Amino acid sequence: MTAIRNNWTREEIAAIYNKPVLDLIYQAATIHREFHDPQEVQVCTLLSVKTGGCPEDCSYCPQAARYHTNVKVQKLMEVNEVIDKAIEAKESGSTRFCMGAAWREVRDNRDFDKVIDMVKGVNSLGLEVCCTLGMLTPEQAQKLKDAGLYAYNHNLDTSEEFYDDIITTRTYKDRLDTLSHVRKANISVCSGGIIGMGEQEDDRIGMLLTLATLPEHPESVPVNALVPVEGTPLEDQPKVSVWEMVRMIATARIIMPKTMVRLSAGRVRMNLEEQALCFMAGANSIFAGDKLLTTPNPGYIKDQEMFQQLQLTPRKAYKEEVTA
Ligand code: SF4
Repeated sequence: MTAIRNNWTREEIAAIYNKPVLDLIYQAATIHREFHDPQEVQVCTLLSVKTGGCPEDCSYCPQAARYHTNVKVQKLMEVNEVIDKAIEAKESGSTRFCMGAAWREVRDNRDFDKVIDMVKGVNSLGLEVCCTLGMLTPEQAQKLKDAGLYAYNHNLDTSEEFYDDIITTRTYKDRLDTLSHVRKANISVCSGGIIGMGEQEDDRIGMLLTLATLPEHPESVPVNALVPVEGTPLEDQPKVSVWEMVRMIATARIIMPKTMVRLSAGRVRMNLEEQALCFMAGANSIFAGDKLLTTPNPGYIKDQEMFQQLQLTPRKAYKEEVTA
């Protein structure tokens, strides 16, 4: 049995990342079969419950108020509207429902109370409920947990060394602190990053190193390919190749064998064969629906066709209870 390790070194991870790509896929696929059912892929839905107008300056994000993009600012949705969307997502086969708000951090105000009600409502539908709301205090994390929150997403985005090139309004340490508050509240941790932002391969390895050497591996690691949006500082970044995605996914799978590796943003620019390669390399989750917060994503019908073609089955909710 492959051991779960938290003592990876940068050199070890680099050696895996740089293996001949077919060998890398083979090793990842082998480990994947040891820990997961290779036919099973979890389908998640991500809904933007509060859109745009964000004070942060993440260079990739069309929701930052300072960039001139086509994103229309929308205040926090009503609880019943969100529950209706969650029911729709469940009926279309999603087992995890993630609610995203374009906030720097959670504030203890009426909007947070509303989010708490959303969490309770989505939880009562039997969906794994996840939120991504920015930075959290330990008390806020506990409040979310008490309301039934299953997972919290808070991406590291990139390496510590490259972080300042992408975001200046918060620090890497802020990020890690929130992850630690989430972990302490016994909420399942979802944290990954984006490639194609102008980083070096060493930065990709650095981010994986940080994730794989946390005291516990995140239960979920989303791997995103940048979808450049007009009006953001990264609007002209070239497209990420499928081999870069495959290397990231396969390396994540090998160094964090139990983790759900999520093939996230950027899927809209991949064909079926490219997505199949990512599943072969160890990805076992996708986001469904025609939008990922504000960027395009393949629709439900296309995904259903893909599941049929590749003979994949959707994973059930709460398959592995990671929280007490
Ligand atoms: S990624 Fe999140 S925190 Fe950064 S600008 Fe966008 S909404 Fe704000």
